[in-house]
Amino acid sequence: MDRLTIRNARLLTLGGSGPARGGDLRDLGVIDRGFVRCAAGRIERVAAGDPEPDGGLELDAGGRVCMPALVDAHAHLCWGGDRWDEWDRLRAGTPWPEILAAGGGILSTVRATRAAGEDALAEGVRVRLQAMARLGVGATEAKSGYGLEPETEARMLRAIATAAERSPVLVQRTFLGGHAIPPEDPAWPERLAREVIPDFARRFPGIAIDAFCERNALSVEQCRAVLEAARLAGLPSRLHTDQFTSMGGAEMAVRAGARSVDHLEAATAETVRVVAASNAIAVMLPCSGYALDGRQAPGRALADAGAAIALGSNANPGSAPTVDLRFAMHLAVRHAGLTAAEAIVAATRNAAFALGLGGQVGSLTPGMHANLIVLEDRDERSLVHAFAAEPPRHVVLGGRVLQG
Ligand SMILES: [Zn+2]
Repeated sequence: MDRLTIRNARLLTLGGSGPARGGDLRDLGVIDRGFVRCAAGRIERVAAGDPEPDGGLELDAGGRVCMPALVDAHAHLCWGGDRWDEWDRLRAGTPWPEILAAGGGILSTVRATRAAGEDALAEGVRVRLQAMARLGVGATEAKSGYGLEPETEARMLRAIATAAERSPVLVQRTFLGGHAIPPEDPAWPERLAREVIPDFARRFPGIAIDAFCERNALSVEQCRAVLEAARLAGLPSRLHTDQFTSMGGAEMAVRAGARSVDHLEAATAETVRVVAASNAIAVMLPCSGYALDGRQAPGRALADAGAAIALGSNANPGSAPTVDLRFAMHLAVRHAGLTAAEAIVAATRNAAFALGLGGQVGSLTPGMHANLIVLEDRDERSLVHAFAAEPPRHVVLGGRVLQG
């Protein structure tokens, strides 16, 4: 059965030829009562009113909201080990710098990931993708970045591809070689830019390149070299920047033509202005602020300045142990000033453009992947208002209704 029609639905079409900003960021493209017809894994028709029967499967939405499946603009998803002991120590009052000095944080996950086999890594990604699918996420990024040497980074990228092949979730791979500087290899960022990115560009076509610009990670200059290497290799780039410290990383990334600048909790008013005036998408990651110290990106200021905002779970074993993008949407409204409509656009249409998948997912448009969700409610604000909530009533990925 490869034909499916969802009828009698409140449709959020969320279409547009590029990322939304300004007033467009609140435009859900509502059709009060209509239908979506899917065939061969793609959206075939979206229209108001009632469909003619075509012999395929029909789902009566009963007036409930039908919208594109969510798109996670920033997720790690591939790692070995866990950080539960670290979490216990932190909760018991051990200062974070002390945990870091004892080899905790990103570097503890690097040790565990280097020790993990490819099958185990792929299985971890598979389980996380399955959880995402149940929660209504139809496309996501998956980053490497816990190897910090070529062999493990390549193993992570292969593991992500293996898991993605077996999943109905569309996965965009990102090589986050510039996540941190391993203590045993202080020249890693320079080697990454000079040798590893050109090599990986050949071995892993279609990947994006990412780095972490921060006082205890890569400097602005080191990140500039990484982004320049990406440009020379013809790959899109992104940057984790302005999370704890405003160092000029976002401004540099914008000038370097990065597709997105991610985090921005420490962005100044001037950084907000520069990012909003650029083509880079501002990817907010509210789950990190929730888990760490309560700081959030200036979402309202970014939206008012005209930035194209997207949302990501930032799923990772330390600062955002969740794959539920809906929680990021809730937090973006509750703590960073977005409206419910803006959070929905940021987690669908704009997130798709942040991943370079703007023509494929994130809106109900004929020709796109038939990835959509039907909510339990008839008002889409429920999606953002509720937290720790039940999965959507129906999740459809590749034109097939996900079971259980
Ligand atoms: Zn991240």
